[in-house]
Amino acid sequence: MVESRYNVIIVGGGIVGLAVGLEITQRFPRLRLLLLEKEHRVGRHQSGHNSGVIHSGVYYKPGSLKAKLCVTGAAAMVEFCREHAIPHQVCGKVIVATHEEEFPRLEELRRRGDANGLTGLQSIGPEELREIEPNASGLRALVVPATGITDYAAVCDKYAEIITARGETILTSTEVTGIKRYGEITVETSRGAFSGKSLINCAGLFSDRISRMAGDDPQVMIVPFRGEYYDLIPERSSLVRSLIYPVPDPRFPFLGVHFTRRISGSVDAGPNAVLAFRREGYKRTDFNLRDLGSSLIFPGFWRMAAKNWRSGLDEFHRSFSKPAFVRALQRLVPEVGDEDLVPGGSGVRAQALTREGALVDDFQFVPSGRMLHVLNVPSPAATASLLIGRTIVSTAADGLGLR
Ligand SMILES: Cc1cc2nc3c(=O)[nH]c(=O)nc-3n(C[C@H](O)[C@H](O)[C@H](O)COP(=O)(O)OP(=O)(O)OC[C@H]3O[C@@H](n4cnc5c(N)ncnc54)[C@H](O)[C@@H]3O)c2cc1C
Repeated sequence: MVESRYNVIIVGGGIVGLAVGLEITQRFPRLRLLLLEKEHRVGRHQSGHNSGVIHSGVYYKPGSLKAKLCVTGAAAMVEFCREHAIPHQVCGKVIVATHEEEFPRLEELRRRGDANGLTGLQSIGPEELREIEPNASGLRALVVPATGITDYAAVCDKYAEIITARGETILTSTEVTGIKRYGEITVETSRGAFSGKSLINCAGLFSDRISRMAGDDPQVMIVPFRGEYYDLIPERSSLVRSLIYPVPDPRFPFLGVHFTRRISGSVDAGPNAVLAFRREGYKRTDFNLRDLGSSLIFPGFWRMAAKNWRSGLDEFHRSFSKPAFVRALQRLVPEVGDEDLVPGGSGVRAQALTREGALVDDFQFVPSGRMLHVLNVPSPAATASLLIGRTIVSTAADGLGLR
């Protein structure tokens, strides 16, 4: 039954909001919880438009939240999928250096993986690479056995099912339009007002706006980066056995276009990282004046643009030119051709940007009285979602008055 007063209100039914809800209903079963989602189903944005990879934790700076929550989160995700019969596979992956200049960065990834406690990492040469991925070409590679794949939309549905089975409320098709704090917190929505003692903002691409709606200054702006995929045609999907990644450019929080075998068996290639002109803009032509305008007036945007204009233009070029996209993929699998790839889906990443023009690297959770704003949870947040939920609830339980 929908009531109007709750102990905790969560804004956003993506994998992070749902994982926080799951943890609250597990730890504090007496609290009345309401989760509000503007779409007609949960998991419709980043959480349902990603690569489906259970990341191992090899990439992230030792000691960072990303590193800690990804390594333990990956194990928890595999266990959750096993327990709830969600299709998944720990298939491992290779990160491939195709130029000598990439060797130091590949070694740095190995160091990070070791420091983050990953086991079974192996540095290999071209012959061993071909034993694992017969069509991959590279000078050296790092084998990461703990990487897996799953279906995060199915994970979201299962999180939601458990929350509602515990008697708590998820309202879809309910957009949060205003937040007022008079003692209690009043949340205005497209389906009426609700009040709560505390609020957790997990609104993904709109988390900075929700923070501002609540009267806070998020200090960052969410920049949408669209990631576009091509699908390998089924007759050529045998070119890739599991996951083949390039060595990422350390200047960006993205992993570079790669080949991913999906849990359904198909293989896709991507995603690139193109600045989107609309926060939930899945098509190249999508445009929203407010979204673009808020980017252009944010000082950090121009600082980021000045630093990264060249790589930004390369990404735009790859977005509009299939041959350029294919060339990037051929570095990893030379046999792949233009005719083997058909346009696939896309996703839009929420990436926080500071006023100084820096892309925020680590996860960022910002408390404000009886509220908490989850302001930066890019990849590997789907992998780490259970641990993100646990961490937020453990660290913020007192501030939010959950105990
Ligand atoms: C292309 C791409 C590939 C990725 N690949 C991987 C991967 O392989 N592995 C991995 O671990 N991670 C990956 N990620 C990252 C991962 O998907 C995200 O980090 C994660 O899904 C973030 O979850 P979220 O709940 O914060 O955001 P979302 O899933 O975007 O959820 C936020 C929700 O808030 C809702 N909302 C917003 N405003 C309002 C409002 N006013 N009222 C009510 N509801 C509102 C939205 O509708 C949305 O459902 C990828 C992301 C992308 C985009």
